[in-house]
Amino acid sequence: MPGSNLVRKPLPPVLSTAVRPGYHRLRKRVHLVCFLIFLLLPFFNVVRFDIPRQRFYFAGYELWINEFGIIFFAMMFLMFVIIASSVLYGRVYCGYMCPQMIFSEASTSLQSWLKRKVNKRFSRLPAVRRSLMASTTFYAIAGAASILLAFIFISYFVEPRDLWNRLRVLDLQTAGGIAGATVTLITFLDFTLVRQKFCTSVCPYGYLQGLLGDKNTLLVHYRDEERACIQCKKCVRVCEMGIDIRDSPLQIECIHCGECIDACVDIMARFGREGLIHYTWGESGNLVENEAAWYRKLGLRDAKRVIVLLVTALYLTGLLTALSMRRSVLVQIAPVRATLYRVDPTGIVYNEFRVKIANRGHQPDRVRLSIDGLPGGRMLLTTNPLELAAGAITEARLEIAAPRFTGAQEVNHFRIVADAVTARENDVFEETFLMPPERKLP
Ligand code: SF4
Ligand code: SF4
Repeated sequence: MPGSNLVRKPLPPVLSTAVRPGYHRLRKRVHLVCFLIFLLLPFFNVVRFDIPRQRFYFAGYELWINEFGIIFFAMMFLMFVIIASSVLYGRVYCGYMCPQMIFSEASTSLQSWLKRKVNKRFSRLPAVRRSLMASTTFYAIAGAASILLAFIFISYFVEPRDLWNRLRVLDLQTAGGIAGATVTLITFLDFTLVRQKFCTSVCPYGYLQGLLGDKNTLLVHYRDEERACIQCKKCVRVCEMGIDIRDSPLQIECIHCGECIDACVDIMARFGREGLIHYTWGESGNLVENEAAWYRKLGLRDAKRVIVLLVTALYLTGLLTALSMRRSVLVQIAPVRATLYRVDPTGIVYNEFRVKIANRGHQPDRVRLSIDGLPGGRMLLTTNPLELAAGAITEARLEIAAPRFTGAQEVNHFRIVADAVTARENDVFEETFLMPPERKLP
């Protein structure tokens, strides 16, 4: 105040950066990593529900919809990862990894950054023109980003090359093209208008968290027994969700991002004090950094958490086992028993079988069928080996012919061997060959 006798008291030195939690910086790094993962997953077939081809891509495997076991384990594993993360760490997924939050925050930051830049660079222009310039630039960038993100999002359901071909011809007629245009529009509106309102009004995860959390779940908690709060409201201003964490740690809007923790540490450090907002284990539990045992630091605070993690590990083991047992060439063989057998005038007996082969690999393959353990047996098949293109399925009927051999019974056990040449897979099927009783032979 000019002319005032008041002497501004210098603020105490800021605490060293070593004691600052720095959740903001951590979050932005995690956001970048998650964004790159979101960007790359569909291009490397790590995860995609390919709707037109009816395939589920997981960890590079091309799974067919009928591979129920693997899809079941994959779904259950992903579901338990979400449950475990919610039980242990509350809404940390929302604050650190959710694409909706990453893009909402990026869009808000971009808008304010553009406003600042335009105001600084064109300070001589009237405010209305500066605002128009900033808004036009922002909407143009948001439009381009929406096309890119909609493309990536739909790539989780349609093969990216197929999608790109539709985008190139601006396809607005097929279901894929219409879906692309609709998702782009929704993404644009989400970026520019909805943003974090989505998290508090539409997204079911926040409500689910209310059911999964308990007294030991990670929270962001304001603790001020000494009434040290200086009412600066910096924690409120930095909160992207627009809440005041001092009202309650259990507000459904809180995404446990920790921005308010950083803000309070920053301001209180000027008074040589600790911040008043912390990550804690539940409302009455310890501060995270005060836990001594490593497993409690990680959130393993009771049997419930250990069980949830064990179940998650169980599904992961099931998934890995199912994937390791998976064959890229699936051969199914079944006897046709409508006619038990056929006998020709020379006394040769014939049994009919149905064979179905699916090439679930990425390469064409050849499957050679042979017989083992049936003396004098021959396989009557028009083509052997059978050629299959990648992704092809073939069905055939084949006959196996055998003379009555020494020691032959009415029911004779033998094996059909299927060798997939390219995939280097080998299947052995235990089958039965039926013969008429000896007196009936001609
Ligand atoms: S930032 Fe800290 S000191 Fe400022 S209002 Fe929030 S809790 Fe109080
Ligand atoms: S209250 Fe704090 S932790 Fe919760 S959303 Fe706001 S800034 Fe993030």
